[in-house]
Amino acid sequence: MQRKACNTETLARSEVCSVEYCRSCAVFHVNVGPVTVHFRPSTFRMLCTTLNAALARFRHVRPVLSSCTANQDEIIDRSP
Ligand SMILES: [Zn+2]
Repeated sequence: MQRKACNTETLARSEVCSVEYCRSCAVFHVNVGPVTVHFRPSTFRMLCTTLNAALARFRHVRPVLSSCTANQDEIIDRSP
């Protein structure tokens, strides 16, 4: 079975990740370090909503975490 070549367009990029959209597959390619995860647009929207919700909630958590002796960024980096 022949597969169409990917036709990706980079939508956003930062030091930690990039997001491309492939017109051939109609999926988002989310690249984080060596890992690429593909999401259909509806699923990608849900991912973004969930990430934003987590970030909003994290802002509320911040004062609690800051009482910990560990640096908050270290906590983030150690998470899987
Ligand atoms: Zn593709």
